[in-house]
Amino acid sequence: MRQRTGIRRRAVIILSAMLALGQSWPAAAYQTYGVQVDSRLAPVKWSGLPVRYFVADRGTTGVTSSQFRDAAARAFTTWQNVATAVVSAQFVGFTLAEPDEEDGQNTMGFLSRPDLERVLGTTNYLIDDTTGEILEADIFFNSAFQWSVASAGESGKFDLESIILHETGHLFGLGHSALGETELQAGGGRRVIAAEAVMFPIAFSTGNISDRTPRADDIAGLSEIYPKTGFSSSSGSLSGRVTKGGQGVVGAHVVAFNPATGALVGNFTLDRQGHFTISSLAPGPYIVRVEPLDDAELDSFFDDSTISEVDIDFRVTFYQGFIVVPPGGGSQPFEVQVMAK
Ligand SMILES: [Zn+2]
Repeated sequence: MRQRTGIRRRAVIILSAMLALGQSWPAAAYQTYGVQVDSRLAPVKWSGLPVRYFVADRGTTGVTSSQFRDAAARAFTTWQNVATAVVSAQFVGFTLAEPDEEDGQNTMGFLSRPDLERVLGTTNYLIDDTTGEILEADIFFNSAFQWSVASAGESGKFDLESIILHETGHLFGLGHSALGETELQAGGGRRVIAAEAVMFPIAFSTGNISDRTPRADDIAGLSEIYPKTGFSSSSGSLSGRVTKGGQGVVGAHVVAFNPATGALVGNFTLDRQGHFTISSLAPGPYIVRVEPLDDAELDSFFDDSTISEVDIDFRVTFYQGFIVVPPGGGSQPFEVQVMAK
């Protein structure tokens, strides 16, 4: 455990990649984590790269620890290849440590947690909450499920590389995106039918490998936290307020759609004035849609103090006209007025 005088620390547990949720919501939003430092929100991020990580020397049925290491390396390479961001990670070695111990080393690997019957994996942080710096991150993958590292995926088994990409997105500081849609299955539970973000909290069905590839929403999030040199002058942002009856709306889902590229990127209003900002956007005109998170499990997206203030009683609303995102700057501020259902 790293010791630092005078620094408060806390562990933040992010439950991820649920198997089934009793809801669906079509929308987009990436979210990065932040911690309140004095009056500003500091991003949760690593201050030094590469992130050095260990792999628990323990496989599971169908996956050896070496295969786990290789799948993790592929997932990290995928994040590293995002052209507008700079992140890196380095495999240090195998370890006998458990991937949920606060021991000063970043460990990922399998644990048997049959009690967590919907959780495929979880990323656990230790954060310096005076600066937002990530001090340690561990990721466990639940060996109570069937896993595969087959290159084309495998029927009846979850694709390990896909779930590692999701969890290592958390490791770098990304929160959940709400860009996805699920449907009820005949036997109960829900199946993801579409997701425009690897950081969507619910996994695709077994056999599906499409979450090996980040989408626009994931890329925007990573690029906001770790921008490549020059990216901030070539990208722009869009910001404004969501109001209802003249009052700010908390927890509204704001989605920016770029009709030229088809990219969907989003965020949430996070204060009582209803302010939102969507950053790391390619310049150009955008269509903006605002919707309530009325079918979501809110704790996948917000902390407890925010959940109590989230307003889901309003209708899906498009802003009239385009919002133009300039290179290297922000849009004209604008207000989206929504109405109660
Ligand atoms: Zn997650």
